[in-house]
Amino acid sequence: MKNLVILGGGYGGLTILDGLLEKLPSDVNVTLIDRLPFMGLKTEYYALAAGTVSDHHLRISFPDHPRMTKHFGTVEEIDLAGKKVMLQNDEPVAYDQLVIALGCTDNYHGVPGAEEFSYSIQSLHASRRTNDKLSSMKPSAHVHIVGGGLSGIELAAELRESRHDLQITLLDRGDRLLSSYQPRISRYVQEWFKKHNVEVCHKVSISRVEQDALYNGDELMHSDAVVWTAGIQPVEVVQKLNVTKDRSGRVVVNEYSQIEDHPEIFVCGDCASLQFAPSAQAAEAQGEQIAHVLLAFWKNETPKLKPIKLKGMLGSLGQKAGFGLNVIGDTSITGRVPRMLKSGVLWMSKHNLG
Ligand SMILES: Cc1cc2nc3c(=O)[nH]c(=O)nc-3n(C[C@H](O)[C@H](O)[C@H](O)COP(=O)(O)OP(=O)(O)OC[C@H]3O[C@@H](n4cnc5c(N)ncnc54)[C@H](O)[C@@H]3O)c2cc1C
Repeated sequence: MKNLVILGGGYGGLTILDGLLEKLPSDVNVTLIDRLPFMGLKTEYYALAAGTVSDHHLRISFPDHPRMTKHFGTVEEIDLAGKKVMLQNDEPVAYDQLVIALGCTDNYHGVPGAEEFSYSIQSLHASRRTNDKLSSMKPSAHVHIVGGGLSGIELAAELRESRHDLQITLLDRGDRLLSSYQPRISRYVQEWFKKHNVEVCHKVSISRVEQDALYNGDELMHSDAVVWTAGIQPVEVVQKLNVTKDRSGRVVVNEYSQIEDHPEIFVCGDCASLQFAPSAQAAEAQGEQIAHVLLAFWKNETPKLKPIKLKGMLGSLGQKAGFGLNVIGDTSITGRVPRMLKSGVLWMSKHNLG
């Protein structure tokens, strides 16, 4: 029997399982290892942190199959030479083929105190902890969200709707929010924040975070809670992996998503160096490809891959407004329609992956 081990049952890992299980050859066993007993819909963690949804609504059950084992545990390291996955307080798991789909974690860019004193929305556990903090703050307390990208914007807007009484400041490094998108979208988002009393500060470069404060260069800002949404990098297991990586620390893979020197290992989603920015959409599209490649390899066939095509981006501003951009970035929509589309995409994810 061959043993395929999949590390991480998120968007990428679950899509691979979805593509494989019904066609699994009789001489292949699959082991899924994850520290969660279900898939967490990470794209909604901002809402969990803001307290507008419970984590119960963000869970998707892992599938069942007679030749699939679900192993709940935390991966600590991958022993490339020994072809083993090392787990925390558990026996190692041997593999013949391995998929690394462990997602990403915060990148603090070496800012002192950021990891220690800020809150995160990069994992279910961290988002629950962030929600604990944000929901128990006294009225008028001041929350700073560092990072004016999609997740920082979604969190700031959702938190405003969840807690009208807090002071919320979004700290952005650039001179306009979502600077890689059309100026029209930036203006719409900026207007929404103005109307909803969320302060936005541009050209901010955080140099230090402390228990009750953060610094923009030398300028001290008192804060009752700092949430970090200012960058991501692959998880620590991948950071420790001695293989070729790109400038963002993502693992370089070939056209079949394999590590060149370790063709038995496939890397998917936020851990892989793709031509796209990390996203659930890219992880799912790549997951479909990896399932196809594995099935072809097991039949000794050459995989026939269609190029990955992404559909664009959707973001929310609370429950009633949003923005969207097509994949080329030349057509944008704002208002209630993109918000409804985003809810539709969430529903589809639950339906397709669940
Ligand atoms: C607030 C927010 C909003 C976002 N919005 C969007 C959006 O609108 N559209 C979009 O396309 N993308 C969005 N993203 C990005 C998207 O969530 C990620 O790109 C996507 O989840 C990546 O999928 P993945 O399969 O690589 O990893 P994940 O989906 O993160 O899955 C990784 C899995 O690995 C498990 N894991 C991690 N480390 C370990 C370990 N050491 N041991 C065991 N298990 C482990 C985790 O529990 C998890 O199940 C958003 C992200 C955030 C944080």
